[in-house]
Amino acid sequence: MAATQAEADIHLEGVTKRFADMKAVDDLTLSIPRGNFFAMLGPSGCGKTTTLRMIGGFENPTEGRVFLGGADVTEAPPYKRDVNTVFQSYALFPHLTVEKNVAFGLERKKVSKDEVRKRVGDALELVQLAHLSKRKPGQLSGGQAQRVALARALVNRPRALLLDEPLGALDLRLRKQLQIELKRIQQDIGITFVHVTHDQEEAMTMADEIAVMNVGKIEQAGSATDLYERPKTAFVANFLGISNLVDAQVRAVNNGHTRLETHDGADLNVPTERCGPHGTHEVRVGVRPEKIRLFPEGDAVPDGSNILRGKVVVAAFLGVSIQYIIRTAGGEELNVFTQNTEGAEPDSLGVGRDVQLAWSPEHTFVVDRD
Ligand code: ATP
Repeated sequence: MAATQAEADIHLEGVTKRFADMKAVDDLTLSIPRGNFFAMLGPSGCGKTTTLRMIGGFENPTEGRVFLGGADVTEAPPYKRDVNTVFQSYALFPHLTVEKNVAFGLERKKVSKDEVRKRVGDALELVQLAHLSKRKPGQLSGGQAQRVALARALVNRPRALLLDEPLGALDLRLRKQLQIELKRIQQDIGITFVHVTHDQEEAMTMADEIAVMNVGKIEQAGSATDLYERPKTAFVANFLGISNLVDAQVRAVNNGHTRLETHDGADLNVPTERCGPHGTHEVRVGVRPEKIRLFPEGDAVPDGSNILRGKVVVAAFLGVSIQYIIRTAGGEELNVFTQNTEGAEPDSLGVGRDVQLAWSPEHTFVVDRD
């Protein structure tokens, strides 16, 4: 749930960042509650890193204000902000051991020796690297080095941790493992994490709340389920998985239901609350591939279903599931995933079969055509 400005740990108010005449971030307002694992997700160049850098103080907004814990820090330099940043490149000191790398910031702050030893020990314990404390960075794997960078960023107990694609340089297996570890660490210490990524699966795995960014603006923010099940724009629908969007026109709205007609004449029914904001009658209707059931043409389908008709053009057996591509009479290609569960007949709907695609109105969403 979105925090109010007063409750927010991090709050941006109408923040714009221009580089020459290009707006990298465009009038962005955002509240992140304390203890939230917040992901900023979007394609390259959408302004995620610039937003994070304005929170960290590495970049000043052209317009707007930045608040941390209610205090206006818009003009404060990075070292005066109670946040730390972990970058994709770990930037460890090569000549210092792991524990010296982690201790570095605290020693400069003149914290007592005992306190430094305790906090460094705790931080290394947290990232499960206590046993490597005497190694130098050159003797670590990429994943271990990134965990040292994480320990170093956490050792002075900041209000929030900012993570700029911290797993981007790691291979897929290690990235998946560290995603889970980062989530665990964040839950253990309970501080706010703001994580920038272009990887939707990474954001969905870790974040309590995700803001999907596009050309300097937030298109939609919410939980992974919200964004996946109830996308408000075609961009969000397409960025988080396969969306099967079909052009349609709004025909009637009554009793909480909206009736739509596709351009090959199919009638579809959608709860009005699942319709994103749309200015015209020309919309797109979407449904996720795993929500659709396939029935041979002529067979009965469950009452009240939305139905489209088409022909199977691809049927790929993937083991746990079967992926179909169906071409509708209107020429649109839709993806369908069916689970290969007990009772399923993987070969029953082969290429060339005429089929009905049926799904519940509850699993339908409507977005603008643009
Ligand atoms: P990526 O995932 O590729 O890092 P991003 O979403 O983090 O992308 P930003 O790095 O915030 O995007 O950049 C947003 C836009 O601002 C891009 O068009 C980028 O080229 C531009 N930009 C970023 N920093 C600067 C700069 N210092 N000078 C000029 N333009 C910049």
